[in-house]
Amino acid sequence: MDKDFDLQNYLIEGVEGVVKDALKATLRNPRESAFMIKFAAASRSASKKRRTAEDRGEHIPPFLIASITSKCNLHCAGCYSRCSHATVDSEPVKQLSDEEWLRIFTEADEMGISFILLAGGEPMLRRGIMEAAGTRQNIMFPIFTNGTYIDDEYLKLFDRCRNLVPIMSIEGGRDLTDRRRGKGIYDILMENMEKFRARGLIFGASVTVTTENYKEVTSDAFLDGLAERGCKAVIFVEYVPVTEDSSVLAPTDTEREYLMDRIGILREERSEMVYIAFPGDEKSSGGLRCRRQGLLPHQLPRRRGAMSLLALFRCECQGHLSPSGYAVSTVHGAEERRYAP
Ligand code: SF4
Repeated sequence: MDKDFDLQNYLIEGVEGVVKDALKATLRNPRESAFMIKFAAASRSASKKRRTAEDRGEHIPPFLIASITSKCNLHCAGCYSRCSHATVDSEPVKQLSDEEWLRIFTEADEMGISFILLAGGEPMLRRGIMEAAGTRQNIMFPIFTNGTYIDDEYLKLFDRCRNLVPIMSIEGGRDLTDRRRGKGIYDILMENMEKFRARGLIFGASVTVTTENYKEVTSDAFLDGLAERGCKAVIFVEYVPVTEDSSVLAPTDTEREYLMDRIGILREERSEMVYIAFPGDEKSSGGLRCRRQGLLPHQLPRRRGAMSLLALFRCECQGHLSPSGYAVSTVHGAEERRYAP
């Protein structure tokens, strides 16, 4: 790594870049833009807080991952988290309460943390935590969800609290999505997207890129479908095999090169959405230099070596935050202190 690399500047630029891109992508949506303008101001003031803390020798990470449950209702093929037993069918016996999470979010706000990724298992199983997150409007909460728990109550919540942004997992068209995630999931996702569009709510899509779907998920047809429904960000994550049998699905250099070339073109030609590739962005920009890479830390443990790049911090505090020396901190709210895709 470059000896002159300035972590703090990288982080500040990262947050500012993400906010700027999001503002651009929501220009035609007045309510969303109004929120983004307010959020941009909050994130500038959070940057200042982090800088001040840095000057007195405390590093505050701008991104936090909140792993709020290890329970999930789906059994997706090749789920890394299920394979490692970090995601299970049942409710964890011991986990942080909604109130404890609210306290963590409040502390994060006071410390100057601008983004908290809500991950699981399936995070939307914890409705109380979503409501708590909605009250902390200075923080943006991307929710990495399988989309199966989005009902009218959630839609109303997203409408009220624009800082909650669902990022739904999709694998391409109906065939690819249902094959991996289960029959009928594609239709549920499409229905969700239509409802979001009808209400003028923004959302993102998270795509696991394999040797089977890399062309489809970067095609104009697929991206048109997402953009028309109001999607504002597409996050491409390379598949990491969990068994010998599935290694054939892992992208090789050929597919990776195709993906990054295509993303370069998309960023030039289709600015209606933000495109993030993991770990491609990180590699092409020399590791930590990539300004957006902090958005996807929940995926990192799927790749060996990723921990050393982002230096994830496992906060075992179970209820309180403390400054860490890392770019991204993780709070595990359940006994199973691991990660889910
Ligand atoms: S990939 Fe996500 S939604 Fe699917 S089983 Fe794993 S944790 Fe659940």
